[in-house]
Amino acid sequence: MRGVTVITHPLVQHNLTRLRDRRTQPQEFRRVLSEVAALMLYEATRSFQVRPVAVSTPLARTGGFQLEREVVLVPILRAGLGMLDSILQLIPHARVGFIGLKRDETTLRATAYHKSLPPRLDDFETILIDPMLATGGSTVAAMDLLTERGAQHVRLVNLVAAPEGVRHVRRHYPRVPIFTAAIDARLNSRGYILPGLGDAGDRLFGV
Ligand code: URA
Repeated sequence: MRGVTVITHPLVQHNLTRLRDRRTQPQEFRRVLSEVAALMLYEATRSFQVRPVAVSTPLARTGGFQLEREVVLVPILRAGLGMLDSILQLIPHARVGFIGLKRDETTLRATAYHKSLPPRLDDFETILIDPMLATGGSTVAAMDLLTERGAQHVRLVNLVAAPEGVRHVRRHYPRVPIFTAAIDARLNSRGYILPGLGDAGDRLFGV
């Protein structure tokens, strides 16, 4: 699908399979989701812009690179939290925003119940984190909030995406890059991804 990078790295796929497995208990689910998020981050940030800088080593002066923009990580609550810590370890200087969205189980529409974001996002690389891109409703609602703050360089990091969700996001945000470990078959009638891995938040937190 256009604009979607499916990360086929063997370690990512190995870990995704462990997360799909219904026998994987919350403690292991948390650990593996955290590991896979770190692995996915390398691919998801490959196109970050850098600028050349000079640096002095203990022995000589040479050229290097610095990230062009500050980074803000925005996990969508709850399940996005499962991918945050390991990403933050790799980009410790990143700021962290939060978006809480509630899905109406009848209409499947997402509305925000919490948002904490830097006042302006124009100059940030913004990484919107949610393991499951299902209907796309939450992602579009979150993208709307980021866009209101001026975000211009947003990328999505998901673990599993449904084709319906990708299409929905594409209709509203045709250019936002999407990184995922899998595009699954479809949604079921309750908006869950098939085969998916179930409710990521429930599996993470054991409720
Ligand atoms: N959210 C989840 O956690 N799982 C799905 O399959 C869909 C939405």
